[in-house]
Amino acid sequence: MSLLSVRDLAVEFRTAKGPVRAVDGLSFSLEEGRTLGIVGESGSGKSAASLAIMGLLGGARVSGSIELAGTQVVGADRERVRALRGRKVAMIFQDPLSSLHPHYSVGEQIAEARRLHFGASRRAARGEAVRLLADVGIPDPGERAGDHPHRFSGGMRQRVMIAMALACEPDLLIADEPTTALDVTVQAQILELIARIQRERGLAVLMITHDLGVVARVADDVLVMYAGRAVERAPADALFAVPLHPYTRGLLGSLPRLTGPPGELAPIAGAPPSPLSPPAGCPFHPRCAERVEVCGTTRPVLLGTSHQAACHLLTTAKGTTG
Ligand code: SF4
Repeated sequence: MSLLSVRDLAVEFRTAKGPVRAVDGLSFSLEEGRTLGIVGESGSGKSAASLAIMGLLGGARVSGSIELAGTQVVGADRERVRALRGRKVAMIFQDPLSSLHPHYSVGEQIAEARRLHFGASRRAARGEAVRLLADVGIPDPGERAGDHPHRFSGGMRQRVMIAMALACEPDLLIADEPTTALDVTVQAQILELIARIQRERGLAVLMITHDLGVVARVADDVLVMYAGRAVERAPADALFAVPLHPYTRGLLGSLPRLTGPPGELAPIAGAPPSPLSPPAGCPFHPRCAERVEVCGTTRPVLLGTSHQAACHLLTTAKGTTG
């Protein structure tokens, strides 16, 4: 059984200008010990999907099914979701300061999580906090446990956040753009840390990112999102070897080369569609250099088995899926 099974997930926000469908019919599953990279530009729906999995979208209309460790998240009462969030799933964000309390030392905060979730004594929880800080590579963890979050650099703060996430011994770690604010060297170190703890603890990891380069480093499987939908889904090796969707090819083509400038993806020509008025047909067609007539009128569906893509070109291509 999958640790996480998402079926036909839709997330709709009500705005002054009308309803906005941020996620539309998303389905995927994640097995224990695997890393799934969800990739897309800003506004693709990837973060809305991850917040729905965490049960953190109070103001939105969420439908479909999110089954986490056998428990249904959609429609569950707050207490049930909170318990699940504490023990089964933890999340780290781009900005650790948004999740760490500025007035308590990092050791106190990690120890508090241990005490809350496992009923550890004060002394045991403090020892476990120091051990977790050591495990994520904080030098002098005994000393540093007494420091407040603002005394750590960006990379060290993200390590603290990972220690905090591990304090609850989750089965699933959701990492939403965890390295976007960091320089390239520190980014590589944090990705290596996430990959190590994933291996050692057998965690499932959902890596949410705009950067296929991040996915290439850590993911077993990849799901590419555009305008709230999955447009390509495949094992990472297959996707990087033969990307089937023009949007994925655009993302790959704009990855920085080793000799080129590091960091953000160069944008694909044009902009993602407004979620208030998505185009008819394939939502990528206004930006797609390969579009054909049917693209402007008929929405393509995901085709294939282990390697899937939603593009009309695949219905005429031979032997490209499966
Ligand atoms: Fe491009 Fe058409 Fe494929 Fe959409 S369906 S990605 S517009 S070729």
